[in-house]
Amino acid sequence: MSGPRPVRAPRGTELSALGWQQEAALRMLQNNLDPEVAEHPDKLVVYGGTGKAARDWRSFDAMVRTLRTLRQDETMLVQSGRPVGVMRTHEWAPRVLIANSNLVGDWANWEEFRRLEALGLTMYGQMTAGSWIYIGTQGILQGTYETFAAVAAKRFGGTLAGTITLTAGLGGMGGAQPLAVTMNDGVALCVDCDPRAIERRIEHKYLDVRADSLEHALRLAVEARDARRPLSIGLLGNAAQLLPRMLAEGAPVDIVTDQTSAHDPLAYLPVGVDFDDMASYAAEKPADFTRRARESMAAHVEAMVGFMDAGAEVFDYGNSIRGEAQLAGYARAFDFPGFVPAYIRPLFCEGKGPFRWAALSGEASDIHKTDKALLDLFPENESLHRWIRMAGERVHFQGLPARICWLGQGERDKAGDMFNDMVGNGTLAAPLAIGRDHLDCGSVASPYRETEAMLDGSDAIADWPLLNAMVNVASGASWVSIHHGGGVGMGRSIHAGQVSVADGTKLAGEKIRRVLTNDPGMGVIRHVDAGYDIAESVADERGVRIPMREE
Ligand code: NAD
Repeated sequence: MSGPRPVRAPRGTELSALGWQQEAALRMLQNNLDPEVAEHPDKLVVYGGTGKAARDWRSFDAMVRTLRTLRQDETMLVQSGRPVGVMRTHEWAPRVLIANSNLVGDWANWEEFRRLEALGLTMYGQMTAGSWIYIGTQGILQGTYETFAAVAAKRFGGTLAGTITLTAGLGGMGGAQPLAVTMNDGVALCVDCDPRAIERRIEHKYLDVRADSLEHALRLAVEARDARRPLSIGLLGNAAQLLPRMLAEGAPVDIVTDQTSAHDPLAYLPVGVDFDDMASYAAEKPADFTRRARESMAAHVEAMVGFMDAGAEVFDYGNSIRGEAQLAGYARAFDFPGFVPAYIRPLFCEGKGPFRWAALSGEASDIHKTDKALLDLFPENESLHRWIRMAGERVHFQGLPARICWLGQGERDKAGDMFNDMVGNGTLAAPLAIGRDHLDCGSVASPYRETEAMLDGSDAIADWPLLNAMVNVASGASWVSIHHGGGVGMGRSIHAGQVSVADGTKLAGEKIRRVLTNDPGMGVIRHVDAGYDIAESVADERGVRIPMREE
């Protein structure tokens, strides 16, 4: 009988599959469930509330078995975490095609999803959980670091030194916040109701200390702020209680955001519920739990609006907490912006986004070699140099060693091509899996997050991620996925992902050049179509063809 057990990707160059393309998918699936990587591996949950890598253990075993025997001209089809077929395709086709959590429009809500999930018919794939390219908290670290750098540039003279950021949620994604703030020289006060989440971040060196009480946390924060010393502080408690209390007491906070799992009301702890009772209560009385979680989110968001009124920089960090608070009847929920329109969209216009790669050898030295090669490839890019240097010093690898950095259209293909050469000429010990988050420039429709407040009002148009997935299939990616509901929850997003394996062969080089040109190219054309000037100049400069501009 297959059941929970520790999973870890093999290291080294010995293949258990028929080729590196299949081996890479196998190792990355296993890596997503490595206890060092996944938040709740026994439940197959990788991150983001209930984002899973496989539907159940039987499906996991079947995927492992199938990947081991899959040929170079075959493709495994995965329907919400379960392998449902193997088809004869061809060498340029992806080895795996994945569709996770997709529901027809009128049925696309949590209630219906849960009903189908209970019947064993679907699973929640989040973004990189069900598409096997989650690389631990580092994956979100650079984006979070860039976001806080943009906040610093906008409001605080380019540094967070001397400021206090208040946030909640120290999970798989939210856990990047304290380190991102201290990398920008600020003080972070981070609330979480799960003592394990706080301990884990301290263990992984993303969080500095745990405070004993709110008073203690504020004292530590103010002392560090006054000394302009970076410090991150974890505080155990319910954000929906602590934030209103801090607002009422006039806590000296400069920046407020949140990364609790608000996208899923069954993963947000309602006020008055003990953390230890959360899971059983959510399972036994989901409707009651949801109502109370939404009421608590309304109180939480009301406090955030209060901090904004008092002069703080406040933004939604992509977890849909404003939407949930609005559902609970709080009218001012959308008074503060989402982080994409506020800070990230100009990067998307250039086709920039969270490019990442994992060393299938398991050797940290492979990543260090790629770091150095990348810096030599882009000698002029100062922010890349700053990031790679800090990441080299401060990022603790989880699972297979990996690196993330935001690269744009015209850059990713160069990096990918160089990486493939490094595998081919033996500089690296084994191939690399090169992928990205679904939170990218041209791969997602998500009106509360990546496509909030588009210039032309096209926030909810979901043709773009579908075109993106099709382009990646047509260009030669190794696995391609289309998901629904990642980041912000059911009914609120449709998004696509791709991973391309650099195995050092000529064929891989041909595919990688196409995929890593066309994939970020989708971001450029999506933003040209929406009327962004920056995207138009990028398209002109890089020769991205746009028929409607060729009249
Ligand atoms: P996670 O489930 O791993 O962690 C969520 C954390 O919130 C948990 O540690 C939980 O204990 C805590 N929490 C829940 N209710 C709380 C409450 N009332 N008070 C205090 N703490 C509470 O999730 P994650 O992977 O860290 O993702 C967090 C959210 O951010 C999700 O909604 C996710 O979709 C979203 N997200 C944002 C981005 C981004 O770029 N900003 C990217 C991916 C995901």
